[in-house]
Amino acid sequence: MTENNERNLDFIREIIKNDLESGKHKTTVTRFPPEPNGFLHIGHAKAICLNYGISKENEGARFHLRFDDTNPEKEEVKYIEAIKKDLEWLGVDWGENLFYASDYFDKLYEYAIILIKDGKAYVDELNAEEIREYRGTLTKPGKNSPYRDRNIEENLELFEKMRSGEVEEGKMVLRAKIDMASPNINMRDPVIYRIKNIHHPRTGDKWCIYPMYDYTHCISDALENITHSLCTLEFEDHRPLYDWFLDQLPVPSHPRQIEFARLNLNYTVMSKRHLLKLVEENHVDGWDDPRMPTISGLRRRGYTSASIWEFLSQIGLAKVVSTVDIGLLEYFIRQELNKTSDRVLVVLDPLKVVITNYPDDKEDEFELPNNPEDENAGTRKVKFTKELYIERGDFMEDPPKKFFRLFPGKEVRLKSAYLVRCNDVIKDDNGNITEIHCTYDPDSKGGSAPDGRKVKGTLHWVSAKYGKKIEVRMFDRLFNVENPGKETGDYIDDLNRDSKKVLKNSIAEPGILEAEKGKRFQFFRHGYFFSDPIDSTEGSPVFNQIVSLKDTWEKVKKK
Ligand code: ATP
Ligand code: MG
Repeated sequence: MTENNERNLDFIREIIKNDLESGKHKTTVTRFPPEPNGFLHIGHAKAICLNYGISKENEGARFHLRFDDTNPEKEEVKYIEAIKKDLEWLGVDWGENLFYASDYFDKLYEYAIILIKDGKAYVDELNAEEIREYRGTLTKPGKNSPYRDRNIEENLELFEKMRSGEVEEGKMVLRAKIDMASPNINMRDPVIYRIKNIHHPRTGDKWCIYPMYDYTHCISDALENITHSLCTLEFEDHRPLYDWFLDQLPVPSHPRQIEFARLNLNYTVMSKRHLLKLVEENHVDGWDDPRMPTISGLRRRGYTSASIWEFLSQIGLAKVVSTVDIGLLEYFIRQELNKTSDRVLVVLDPLKVVITNYPDDKEDEFELPNNPEDENAGTRKVKFTKELYIERGDFMEDPPKKFFRLFPGKEVRLKSAYLVRCNDVIKDDNGNITEIHCTYDPDSKGGSAPDGRKVKGTLHWVSAKYGKKIEVRMFDRLFNVENPGKETGDYIDDLNRDSKKVLKNSIAEPGILEAEKGKRFQFFRHGYFFSDPIDSTEGSPVFNQIVSLKDTWEKVKKK
């Protein structure tokens, strides 16, 4: 979690510090208010890190989780469950403080009546299109609806009709009576209630009118005595409305809304609407597809919540919108796993090697450190046999200059085992290489030349006799461009169609099969991998690539 030292407070914590010192507040109450219309993404995690982080920094502080469930059309219970699970995984503990905006439907209705009685709200019969037309534009003031000056009695009567289900959907709305000429379009008599004949997961069929976001949000904050209502910059223009509602109504408190810049990442899309489309149109395998920027996707990919917190505290808080390089997120998981993950030898795309001068029944056993970065990680024994696998890409029959791996006549080191030289290439009828034949130097045990001759190139290998078949899923960026949709107009056009590769015949050291689900490894020379918690089964594990060993992407981009 973010550790802020006194000198280095961000602008929000600065405001909070002043409010506590001046006595305006004794402590803080912050909240995270997701709409349950999709899974959480890493952008949401930034808001969580901020709100929850603040609650951990101040004595007596509270953190509320509030589902903003005012739009039953798009909201589903499964999203509520998914959001809770993600928050728990991130280590967020909301304790007793779990709320739903729908808990306040009675109160919101009561307050709407107060607005009507005070002449500050009216029932409008313009249809949606007319309302839009009457609203005006940024440069043109709006004009008053012909229904704006109905008397209070009539408004109360019609609003009651709306509530009791006597009015058809779309025929009437309740609007706040503010100012149709306001330079701020949000203040031009915003709609506060609309009719929707929809069943609500929590309130059932009790209501057929549902309050709008701007009206609901500020009142929910006020009812929960939120002290600082932190939201993203696009709500800056809504702040006058937030304050207006609270100023008109007998609410128990008046929270202060403060806006900060949302998190944007390159090479991905972040809005739930966009992510939902990727899921619904099967461009990905679900909300928790390891390529998704969702919390559940990152978890399934193998990210740890610690690395996500590290990332979020590193990017900090600002008022200026910027895009963060996804490479930074990768950097933090790489740093962590370098210290904590066991190394294993895995051949992703196997090519068989026969060591012709190695006796048929001979076996060697080499002791390899599990993690050279961690001396407490111990060692393991790896068996070497006459038949082995190496990476197909580590051999070339006709190599270009500077190819330091294996080719006919060339000698290389098999990691921690022996020096071997390639003598023969065996092919099938189609000319495809099926195996290569090598000889080993019996005096090079451990991998060093007896006469001190220089051998460039160290390859990883797995014994054909003892190696186990595993499935490995390799992932690349989900999109080909930094800002999907910017040039093409449609982010779907920028999808990287090769972002997932499934390797079904990879061969690993046998020990990997005994590893529990959800364990992370470094595959030597390849990167970090996570045993998929869902698709792995007893004896046949599936591994997701978390991140490569080095940031190869940067190099590609520079080219
Ligand atoms: P999206 O646009 O991705 O659908 P949203 O804002 O509609 O997101 P909500 O469920 O309403 O999603 O968001 C809950 C909270 O998370 C809000 O306070 C919102 O400001 C914050 N939030 C959403 N996206 C980001 C982001 N990219 N960076 C920081 N905070 C975010
Ligand atoms: Mg929203």
